[in-house]
Amino acid sequence: MPLNTSNTCIAGFETNMAPFTKVVFNCTGLASRTLAGVEDSKCYPTRGQVVLVKAPRIQTNMMRHGVDYETYVIPRPGSKGNVILGGDGATYASEVESILARTSALSPEMREQEPEVLAAFAGLRPSREGGARVEREEVVVSGQRRLLVHNYGAGGTGFQAGFGMALDSVALVEDVLCGLGSSTLQARL
Ligand SMILES: Cc1cc2nc3c(=O)[nH]c(=O)nc-3n(C[C@H](O)[C@H](O)[C@H](O)COP(=O)(O)OP(=O)(O)OC[C@H]3O[C@@H](n4cnc5c(N)ncnc54)[C@H](O)[C@@H]3O)c2cc1C
Repeated sequence: MPLNTSNTCIAGFETNMAPFTKVVFNCTGLASRTLAGVEDSKCYPTRGQVVLVKAPRIQTNMMRHGVDYETYVIPRPGSKGNVILGGDGATYASEVESILARTSALSPEMREQEPEVLAAFAGLRPSREGGARVEREEVVVSGQRRLLVHNYGAGGTGFQAGFGMALDSVALVEDVLCGLGSSTLQARL
């Protein structure tokens, strides 16, 4: 089924629901802390740094949990060989060397050939006290019943858990989605 998308910044869910909207998926990450209609004070940012490399031969997702750091090698599906290497909470140039050294020690595929470093970047992960929220909520907008499916708070596991979270989110409203004709299924954001 073709999916139409558009980029629109919304102030809140209830004010942006069209009259025919039945289900809205809330995948706004950290913005769920302030977004009107959600305002989840459990959301908070966690800083981290990763390295993006081109290494098509790496097929294996590997992770090591250290005492105060994480090391991981995550091939990105459908990216023509891009791999995320991580990671840490710091944002220093020396951290790139540390990540490359730790991931090489972890992954035999990394050691086969030096990867081409495409970028190193720091960011804020969308964390949440108590873990991710994947939950169906019923809201009444202009007297009509609508469904809001929350899917946020993946923190530092979104690359790994995001696909499963998406499947779980859809499953929560399968009863409603199955009742919609394909012509009425359209992304609004
Ligand atoms: C430094 C770093 C390290 C990481 N390490 C790991 C790791 O070790 N393992 C792992 O699995 N994952 C890792 N991740 C991935 C991380 O978990 C993902 O970045 C995260 O899961 C993305 O979550 P999200 O899609 O919920 O949020 P986002 O990617 O932030 O998506 C939220 C979306 O909502 C949109 N939005 C927000 N507000 C509005 C609004 N008002 N109107 C319209 N749109 C809005 C935003 O534009 C954005 O597109 C790391 C990320 C970073 C940055």
